Amino acid sequence: MTSNVGQSYPYTSETEPDRAARIGALVGEREGLSDTLTAETTPLDANDRWWVWKCPTPACPGLLHVAGYAIDKHALFVVCDGTCAKTFLR
Ligand SMILES: [Zn+2]
Repeated sequence: MTSNVGQSYPYTSETEPDRAARIGALVGEREGLSDTLTAETTPLDANDRWWVWKCPTPACPGLLHVAGYAIDKHALFVVCDGTCAKTFLR
């Protein structure tokens, strides 16, 4: 398990349309994020709801939204929608 796979419990959940819209907006806002997701994730399964986590970065108010499955890792690849703009594995 890599060091950035968090152990925290989910904060809330969101519907698939909400998740897709949020990730789509982040991809539109952040240069390079689309390439990162293409390189590091595989597409998600069909699912009605997805977990959302609070961002672990100090002072960042963001939430972590699922963007895909991490390639070769049994983890979800999540993107912070807040000021740190980091990605994590969950
Ligand atoms: Zn953050």
